[in-house]
Amino acid sequence: MRQELLQNPVFAMAAEQFDRVANFLDLSDELRERCKWPKRLITVTVPIRRDDGTTEIFFGHRVQHHLTRGPVKGGLRYHPAVDLGEVAALAMWMNWKCALMDLPYGGGKGGIACDPRTMSIGELERMTRRFTMEMIPFIGPDTDVMAPDMGTNEQTMAWMTDTYSTHAGHLVPAIVTGKPLTLQGSAGRTQATGHGVAFLASSALNKLGMSVEGATAVVQGFGNVGSHAAYTLSSYGVKVLGISDVNGAIWNDNGLDTRKLREHVSANGTVVGFADAEAIDPKLLLTQPCDVLAPCALDRVITGENAPHLRCKILAEGANGPTTPEADRILDARGDVFVIPDILCNAGGVTVSYFEWVQNLQRFQWTEREVITKLETLLHTSFEKVTGFAARNGVSQRVSAQAIAIKTVADAKAARGMFP
Ligand code: NAD
Repeated sequence: MRQELLQNPVFAMAAEQFDRVANFLDLSDELRERCKWPKRLITVTVPIRRDDGTTEIFFGHRVQHHLTRGPVKGGLRYHPAVDLGEVAALAMWMNWKCALMDLPYGGGKGGIACDPRTMSIGELERMTRRFTMEMIPFIGPDTDVMAPDMGTNEQTMAWMTDTYSTHAGHLVPAIVTGKPLTLQGSAGRTQATGHGVAFLASSALNKLGMSVEGATAVVQGFGNVGSHAAYTLSSYGVKVLGISDVNGAIWNDNGLDTRKLREHVSANGTVVGFADAEAIDPKLLLTQPCDVLAPCALDRVITGENAPHLRCKILAEGANGPTTPEADRILDARGDVFVIPDILCNAGGVTVSYFEWVQNLQRFQWTEREVITKLETLLHTSFEKVTGFAARNGVSQRVSAQAIAIKTVADAKAARGMFP
């Protein structure tokens, strides 16, 4: 199984990051093994009736990296490229993210290999409900709490809540997070990740002694994370010069009107063709001069090829795994780009998911202001921890964040000991 996982390039990248930090921490061989490999790898077949009456089997995966510090927490992804190795890598990163934020969770991730854009609502509902049923022996508010990720949304979480609750015989809102408000979702959850990206980018600007008002930004991706990062940056007075999505990229030297852009995207489904902007080659977007570059779409987009040419002062990693280890080494050697690593930068989502779970368990609802204030407090604490550790130990921000996280998990495993 070790070799099978390592053959996946995303898992190999997460494992390489882990090894580097385990060496830095001088982890014992025993803890190294226990912290690196996932506790449970679950693969199920999900048969569904297609609208044309035929039956199709999809493969669904859930990886629970560890449950040492609490239930597993992590998203569910619907995408054609989903496979067990990628899901295992994302579960490992979730584990670090929860530990860094000091949330009482392990890390998990799930996914179904499918193309949701080609499926009807009915097919998506049947697939989601059947997957939830297949997962019932392994999930629960105290064992594994899923959330939306690429290709899934509030509606997916509503179907999961209904399927699990029907099985339990009563409403169990704490079974997933990222639910609609009407099913006890949390105020502030939708914008949480993007808000966190913008909040931390502004913290980094402050740290570098730069003014937030009038700073410039480029955002890759205009989905949940990218769009909310762009709105919040604009609301701080940052000029968002360029934005891309899967169809293309747009640019305006004076800053894009992100509110108008949202209306354009609602109407047209893409940023392309926005009236107050010119088109730009999406590949060139990443290397334009700006203060903040926020990749908020895909993994492995900052590579050995483009890293030497980045002209940003801050790299705010909204996406999971946007920077390859090779690019990381180049950025470390350059030393002129302040990296806010993914497990910190996009932790706003899981943090507000945690708030949602707590509210569900307490049968209580917080206001949006309470949620955002508590989110900013936790993000600020972690930002200070990461930058402080990096400065004291002379390591990059990424190694610092991962080291704090992995040490937190290793300490918990050491304290619990090994059964039997
Ligand atoms: P999403 O599906 O809502 O949006 C993805 C965006 O990326 C879309 O605008 C899409 O057009 C764009 N995109 C796809 N391919 C692209 C390409 N080649 N070039 C430029 N843009 C491209 O997804 P999301 O929820 O915003 O997630 C984005 C990233 O953030 C993922 O890596 C995800 O794992 C990570 N993340 C999301 C959350 C969350 O709360 N949604 C939390 C933590 C991390």
